[in-house]
Amino acid sequence: MFDFSGLVAVITGASSGLGVQFARALAAQGANLVLLARRVPKLQAVADEVRDMFGVEVLPVGCDVTNLDQVRAAVDAVDARFGRADILVNNAGTGGVAPALDMTDEQWDADIALDLTATFRVTREFMNRLIKRSDCGRVINISSMYGLVGNTTIPTSAYHAAKGGVVNLTRALAAEWAKDSVTVNCICPGYFETELTAEALKTPEFQEYVKQWVPLGRQGKAGELNTALLFLASPESSYVTGTSVVVDGGYTCV
Ligand code: NDP
Repeated sequence: MFDFSGLVAVITGASSGLGVQFARALAAQGANLVLLARRVPKLQAVADEVRDMFGVEVLPVGCDVTNLDQVRAAVDAVDARFGRADILVNNAGTGGVAPALDMTDEQWDADIALDLTATFRVTREFMNRLIKRSDCGRVINISSMYGLVGNTTIPTSAYHAAKGGVVNLTRALAAEWAKDSVTVNCICPGYFETELTAEALKTPEFQEYVKQWVPLGRQGKAGELNTALLFLASPESSYVTGTSVVVDGGYTCV
């Protein structure tokens, strides 16, 4: 089980944070990787590290996932190199902070464009050409526990809306593409320290909040999402589709 040798996994947002952890986890099981993000030097460094460490093939592709032309060019690059994609991890994302009453239309649109619309478009483009050619197509969307509930610490209503959209988009695509034997699932992470969250998570107030409101009493550690990812990406998980795996230390169970 969990042998990914020869499979091709595409990860968006692989230049930092959770995307790097996902790249290491999939490569450790033998998957060849395609890494997408805008900061090409960072992407290249991740590609070099993973290739050296695990001996897999890695293709870094500079791509702004909100730009359809760039997404299509990335599909072309993967087609030319691998000819198919088996696993797509839609991980690129952000989290705009603004009280709802102060939020501008531009802030709202930017969050929805990256966290929701890009997830759909990237999936559509890769499915159309490359995932259809796989014997075990797997789409894994990275939503958030904030896609399931609201919160009382940081005002991020656009993020909640987008990530909630990702949870239900996952169900819709799972239902639609079941006939193609492609599974579509979602991971809803809790608090993990990355470029996106470090500033907020490090404050004493937030640490107190985490102790009080996360039943396990702490934020997630690097690597604690990997088992969920590998489970959903595995060829053996062929009867798991349309579901969300919540990895949040229990935040949403209370
Ligand atoms: P990071 O900021 O560390 O990583 C975000 C990644 O997305 C980077 O690689 C960034 O690369 C990429 N990205 C951002 N905008 C674009 C774009 N327009 N096109 C292509 N790539 C883009 O954050 P995390 O690792 O924390 O976030 C990863 C995912 O996990 C996000 O979807 C986030 O919402 C989700 N998440 C994170 C949680 C946490 O606690 N950390 C909790 C719940 C969910 P580049 O700038 O090079 O393009």
